Amino acid sequence: MTTENFLRELKTSQIIELETCVRCGACSEVCPVYEQDKSIIAVPALKLQELRKIIGKDVSIMGLISPASKVDLKELRKAAEAAYLCTLCGRCWIGCIIGIRNRELREVLRSMIYRAGYIPKPLKDVDELLLKYKNPYKPSGRLEWIRELDFQIPVNARGANILYFVGCTSAIRDPNIAKSTAYILRSAGENWTIMDNEWCCGSAWIALGNMDAAKNFAERNVKEIESLNVEKVVVSCAECYRMFKWEYPELNVNYNFEVLHISELINKYLNEGRLKIGKRITERITYHDPCSLSRLGGIINEPRNVLRQIIPKEVDFHYLVEMPENKMNTYCCGGGAFLEFIHPELTLKIAEHRLNQANRIGAEILVSSCPICKITFTNATNKFNKNIKIYDIVELVARNISTNP
Ligand code: SF4
Ligand code: SF4
Repeated sequence: MTTENFLRELKTSQIIELETCVRCGACSEVCPVYEQDKSIIAVPALKLQELRKIIGKDVSIMGLISPASKVDLKELRKAAEAAYLCTLCGRCWIGCIIGIRNRELREVLRSMIYRAGYIPKPLKDVDELLLKYKNPYKPSGRLEWIRELDFQIPVNARGANILYFVGCTSAIRDPNIAKSTAYILRSAGENWTIMDNEWCCGSAWIALGNMDAAKNFAERNVKEIESLNVEKVVVSCAECYRMFKWEYPELNVNYNFEVLHISELINKYLNEGRLKIGKRITERITYHDPCSLSRLGGIINEPRNVLRQIIPKEVDFHYLVEMPENKMNTYCCGGGAFLEFIHPELTLKIAEHRLNQANRIGAEILVSSCPICKITFTNATNKFNKNIKIYDIVELVARNISTNP
């Protein structure tokens, strides 16, 4: 491990961003972790200062790129706690008065910490699981959900129109999302398939700080998918979406298929009449934008268009209600980037804040479009005894598809 290796993690644009921060603190006002934690190490801009300190210079571009720059490993160790006190939700970027991509700089800091071997203890198990079993959760059982279906799923079918990339969280922690997605694809008469040898999309590696492994997993997933010669890849997880759509190209991993979030595909099916909704839902719904799908992914309208088609048409403004912090400015569920594994109580506090927003607008159902959001909100609902139902969008759609031709 050399100093040069560490410095190579930073792009020139990021060095400029480090210099540009004026320490105004506006990012703190929008950070969900700081809002609920209030400790000094949760301040987003403070982590930038730490990064400057760690790379051994004040704020001079020439200083940063000088071969004499030294990474102080002691500082790196000290910074670990602060670097992982963050969900990588990206809200500090939106809140920054000059648009500093604080979140990406946090990824660089994590990458340095990972290389130095100082990741927080709870993440060491995740690291081992990812290395050995290619998912962050458990040694086996990725395909168990298939056996619980009463229909057959095409596996490794070549030349299909759609490959459903299930993702670790839908496959292992919340298989009802995988099953509902499969039911939707089947109901739409889609020519589709799944792979029996998926690896994590790589978002877990980025959260840990191992960028090399993220690239390696991305390359391997793309190679396997391309060998099946499919036209499109659809995902039901916001993290998978951000990875395939935005991070793979950033990692220089290119592919020859189109990438869609399931909400985009359902919207298309409904518009084309390939899916029909039977009974409409007459409870008040609010939609929670997952950070990785809206702010970091760019998908905002499609889930709302889908929800509008499953509530009564005439008074949709009554049945579909918005929380105050929504769309690009969405509030984090609190479960991202393994914060849940390191600080479970803090994750629950962030989720509770969001549930209170939903309660205040009279929502009876909170729906999201990411398994991590659903799991986090479900845990918080149970813990704080909240009177609200939590669903993923695919569950609501699958439940309300008309089976009449
Ligand atoms: S990425 Fe989100 S949690 Fe992390 S510092 Fe920025 S606003 Fe806070
Ligand atoms: S809002 Fe931007 S400029 Fe202000 S302290 Fe935060 S990162 Fe620095």
